[in-house]
Amino acid sequence: MIDTSGKSDDLSGKIPKVDDALLEKARTAAARQTGAYAPGEREALVKRIKVLLERENAVLVAHYYTAPELQELADETGGHVADSLEMARFGSEHPATTLVVAGVRFMGETAKILNPEKRILMPDEAATCSLDLECPVELFTEFCDAHPDHTVVVYANTSAAVKASADWVVTSGIALPIVEYLAGRNEKILWAPDKHLGSYVQRATGVRMLIWPGSCVVHENFKADGIRRLMEKHPDAKLLVHPESPGEVIEMADVVGSTTALIKAGSTLDAKKFIVATEPGIFYKMKQAAPGKVFLEAPTGGDLATCESCLRCPWMGMNGLRNLAETLESGGHEITVDESIRQKAVIPLKRMMDFARERGIAMKNRGNA
Ligand code: SF4
Repeated sequence: MIDTSGKSDDLSGKIPKVDDALLEKARTAAARQTGAYAPGEREALVKRIKVLLERENAVLVAHYYTAPELQELADETGGHVADSLEMARFGSEHPATTLVVAGVRFMGETAKILNPEKRILMPDEAATCSLDLECPVELFTEFCDAHPDHTVVVYANTSAAVKASADWVVTSGIALPIVEYLAGRNEKILWAPDKHLGSYVQRATGVRMLIWPGSCVVHENFKADGIRRLMEKHPDAKLLVHPESPGEVIEMADVVGSTTALIKAGSTLDAKKFIVATEPGIFYKMKQAAPGKVFLEAPTGGDLATCESCLRCPWMGMNGLRNLAETLESGGHEITVDESIRQKAVIPLKRMMDFARERGIAMKNRGNA
């Protein structure tokens, strides 16, 4: 049972909704990056980026949902492919003075919050996330102020300003033990911004929370009916689901988990075939970790159809070789975070990391989006 106390419902009409025009704008920007290369262009870009990474004393960290060519380049150049927190953690341990974050803006901000002395560049700092957009800091703090007796727990997919107003930041992998820990201390919990992940945490822990009504524009599209039909066609396949997906899809899953957990499940479970309900950029690492296994996209359209544009995160698609080379060349698209916000935002982030360390929970195996 979701304890909305009427408040979350009130919010549904107030939070900014990600509309088609905004998605189309992101898709157009993404198309500029993914458009076909002229003969030799791709090779020339890769060569140039390698030279620039050295020249700028920079390292490339890419999210699992970015294009395979970026993940390949991060691997090849001594960078890293990971979830957002592991990207920031890797960056803080790497000696490079510049981190180039291929992902979405909150990931660049998290890298800056944890590595204030480093320069953080992104191929396109306008690449954002619907969860971040649907949780504007003014409205969020108003909501928190209306519930001063609640402990504020926010998902990593939020702006630096929202993190700064939280008590805890969590990833999808560590949300369950943190919520159980807080409930054990009789703390009331306000959860933001993903309603599906919040409902999943609530069902799994039995802890009632006040839940912000945001959602991911990709995961929200997975359809239980279509997945059921695909499972009938492939009865030997296991279903892997990211917890930002709707509850009815989560209920059907063999494994529910973070990006890192799903990659691990693909390689360790005793099955040859998987239906995967998350952004298909993850297939690059899944196939690398489990060569020879078959990974199928969970349907997002009607019946067994997949709506390609619904399945791809338009903002992750805004990262490409072309703008990666440009940002390294020019130093543009640098991510900055106001120092007073950064100092507040680092507290709930470090609280989560300390919690993980004290309990022996490996953050690199407990990732988020
Ligand atoms: S896939 Fe969803 S949660 Fe991840 S960045 Fe895109 S919109 Fe945000």
